[in-house]
Amino acid sequence: MKSRLPVIILVFFLISGSFFFSCRKAEVRYDLVIKNGRVFDGSGNPWFRADIGIKGARIVAVSGRIDPGKATRVIEAEGLAVAPGFIDIHTHADRDLLDIPGCENYISQGVTTLVGGNCGDHDFPLGELFSGIEKKGIACNFASLAGHNTIRRQVMGLKMEAPTAEEMMRMKDLLRQEMLAGAVGLSTGLAYLPGTYSRTEELVELASVLSAVGGFYASHIRNQGKKITEAIEEAITIGEKNGIPVQISHIKLADEDVWNQLERITAPVEAARTRGVEVTMDQYPYTATSSGFTSSLPQDVFEGGREKFLERLQNPEVYSRVKQAVIRSRLTSNRGIDKLETIYLANSRKFPEYEGKNLKQILELRGKPATVENGADLIIDLVKEGDVSAIFFQMDERDVEALMRLPYVMIGSDGGLQVAGQGSPHPRSYGTFTRILGEYVRQRHIITLEEAIRKMTCLPAQTMRLKERGMIREGYYADLTIFDPLEVKDAATYAEPHQHSRGVVYVLVNGRPVLEKGKFTGARPGMIIRGPAFGKK
Ligand SMILES: [Zn+2]
Repeated sequence: MKSRLPVIILVFFLISGSFFFSCRKAEVRYDLVIKNGRVFDGSGNPWFRADIGIKGARIVAVSGRIDPGKATRVIEAEGLAVAPGFIDIHTHADRDLLDIPGCENYISQGVTTLVGGNCGDHDFPLGELFSGIEKKGIACNFASLAGHNTIRRQVMGLKMEAPTAEEMMRMKDLLRQEMLAGAVGLSTGLAYLPGTYSRTEELVELASVLSAVGGFYASHIRNQGKKITEAIEEAITIGEKNGIPVQISHIKLADEDVWNQLERITAPVEAARTRGVEVTMDQYPYTATSSGFTSSLPQDVFEGGREKFLERLQNPEVYSRVKQAVIRSRLTSNRGIDKLETIYLANSRKFPEYEGKNLKQILELRGKPATVENGADLIIDLVKEGDVSAIFFQMDERDVEALMRLPYVMIGSDGGLQVAGQGSPHPRSYGTFTRILGEYVRQRHIITLEEAIRKMTCLPAQTMRLKERGMIREGYYADLTIFDPLEVKDAATYAEPHQHSRGVVYVLVNGRPVLEKGKFTGARPGMIIRGPAFGKK
């Protein structure tokens, strides 16, 4: 007869194991419990009341009531909204994370994840940036796109021609390399150098890399004015031919001739969505844009680089052509608007005394009459000194509101990391998310609070295929933003941009507070979020 000993031992272990397990279960403790808050889970559903239990970096319980005795720490959120941490799908944080790892201008808005590499430019090579950031530690999570401009410049410099077969192959190899390093997709900046030199076919071919490895296509499209429909259609073609999602960046009607003509945007986007092309967009809640002046000049004058550009300007014929183009693109108004008064200098290393001043004021400082001719000369002068960034008031508030009501438009700041007091940046870097919550939700009732939060959390997470972020769910990362819905608001203005937002009380990144009772904790729990191809061969 066989011994029954193994069976007895097995039974003993099963019984003792389950006893031990049930003891442990009774002892479950949370590192942190958020009590009595109104939970906006990111889905857009009406808020509900629940306690949230956190262990380590994760949400482990979302339930009616959690015994505070089981928690190491309790945050009382009575009267406060508890939302997933905001995901900013459109930033230019990138390399600045190494110098400004505290991300304070974003944390004070409730943002817990920054996506960089937008508008065609990323920090190359991405793998190095990621490991540099991981060594240093950052307060927010970070993900990055790989930019077409960066890749094209690496391979072709500032050449205007279409790439040769060999150059195309090298660009695709570089994109694949960046995707394997963890990029979340491909971005283009087709109003910028050298993207402006590329044709649609080049972009369709380059983006084909994503069909194999995943990721989405984000585009600063070629034109945001009279040719916006064609520009959107180009982005759609690039996604459609490759079967990849398309994100139109910082969507706007940026030319007074097309103000209040939303169908120029909605018609191509909705037709594409009906055909089964996944098209989404992001916007920031301001009527001013911000960029360099370089894109206001005819782009062929930059071919071959800066020296060549300065040389070409010596030719009076070229100069006059450039000047006329600047007048047409920046200083002409069909509505009688004095454009010199609507363009402000944001950052200039060469002329810090001009920061925060408009072109009219700068001309006055230079002792020149404020004419359109002189304005164009001034812009060309500034570009000659190296590009300076400026703020352009070129949108209509009604369009900002109408875009916000579209369900497939999410929120993205198009801003960057800021050092207090440095330059005169666009206030969007400090106030995008809180401005939506205070101004557009509470004051003007343009969208509901649930919908605003969906546009800041679940929708960008879905677009990027982010795993376990963007909603309040058991098992998800504990990226959370806790704010007072009656107090939350932006404080940054064009005149005084370096103002942190109000009303955000706690911000947690991967379970750890980076903001507590409105104060920065200095913790750096942010992670690099790598894209779908990371680690593949
Ligand atoms: Zn852009």
